[in-house]
Amino acid sequence: MKCLHLSKPVKILTLSAMLILIGCQGLPPRQSPGDHAPSIGKGELKRAGPDSNYRKFAPRVKNNNEIEIHMLPVGGGMCQVVNCPGNNNPAPLLIDCGASAGSLGANDLSKADAVARTQALLGGRVTTVVLSHSDSDHNNYIPDVFPNVNQVGTLWVGSQFNRYPVAVQTWINDVAAAGIVVRRNFPAGWSNNGNAVLELACGSARTFVLTVNSDVGANDGSMMLSIDHGDTHMIFPGDATKKAQDWAMVNFPNPLLRSDLVAMSHHGADSHGSNDDDWAFATEPRYLFASAGVSYYHPRCDSGQRYINAGRVLAAPIHAYKCGYSGYWSAQSTTATAIYNTEDVGEVVITATDDPATIRVTCSGLACSY
Ligand SMILES: [Zn+2]
Repeated sequence: MKCLHLSKPVKILTLSAMLILIGCQGLPPRQSPGDHAPSIGKGELKRAGPDSNYRKFAPRVKNNNEIEIHMLPVGGGMCQVVNCPGNNNPAPLLIDCGASAGSLGANDLSKADAVARTQALLGGRVTTVVLSHSDSDHNNYIPDVFPNVNQVGTLWVGSQFNRYPVAVQTWINDVAAAGIVVRRNFPAGWSNNGNAVLELACGSARTFVLTVNSDVGANDGSMMLSIDHGDTHMIFPGDATKKAQDWAMVNFPNPLLRSDLVAMSHHGADSHGSNDDDWAFATEPRYLFASAGVSYYHPRCDSGQRYINAGRVLAAPIHAYKCGYSGYWSAQSTTATAIYNTEDVGEVVITATDDPATIRVTCSGLACSY
């Protein structure tokens, strides 16, 4: 069967076209994602009392037409929960969940607290899980988040499976053994021919794999995601290097990567071409995020500056922001631009409708201001 090659701006796919596209993925048939139980946790979150760290919790309940992204302050790692737009409580996405021991700063959650917070946000719902790549700081909390693998609806696994931590490999195999769809060992640079991936749909928002397994290295192999909620575009790159970013730019040429919200590649690293000029100017974010702890002087100031140089990063109320250089931290401790690091501001929650003018960002449940 000849595959259609629809470009990303094609906003309306007919059902028949979608069915053709499923056949173009070159992947095993889809299995039932299981029941999508209603959320029981999201609406129950309250700002905690004075003895607990209230700054880490966001009590607002989103509207059905909004996407809501939680970037948890896990330290040197990533853990991102996406509540998806649409009626009937669509399945949430979990993009990575883990951190390096010893990388946690003052605003970061312990492993136990990060696991509990993730579980509270998921509220027992069947969840679409994406593991960007094999490095443990992106996946070592996952087996604790899902002791019951039947809460996983679909699991997508970037980079080389045999490089994952043994405990995570075991968990992945347990998911597969439970009859749940597990996609792994993708061909180099796979992008579903630039089409939205139905299995990773975030409610009514469309999810794209920009690239995966761009090279054999773990970071090079990062599964880079883009989510489009109408005209609101977001990028979650994992620990993408230049090799991965460049392949994403080939798969999605200008201006397809131009985005409103961009998470910095590799915690804001400045090595191996992560967050380089080409990528910054291709993505042109208005809001920029980093998930970094106190390791490696992440995010690097130079990385953030490249996105600012691209010209669209918005001004914002002054808030805490600390960046570093090779071997030392900048004297800068605040910023007046829309760039947020979880280690500085705690849990970052972004909500938006399909109109990017509606984007709002909270830091630990509060306005992001100093
Ligand atoms: Zn990492």
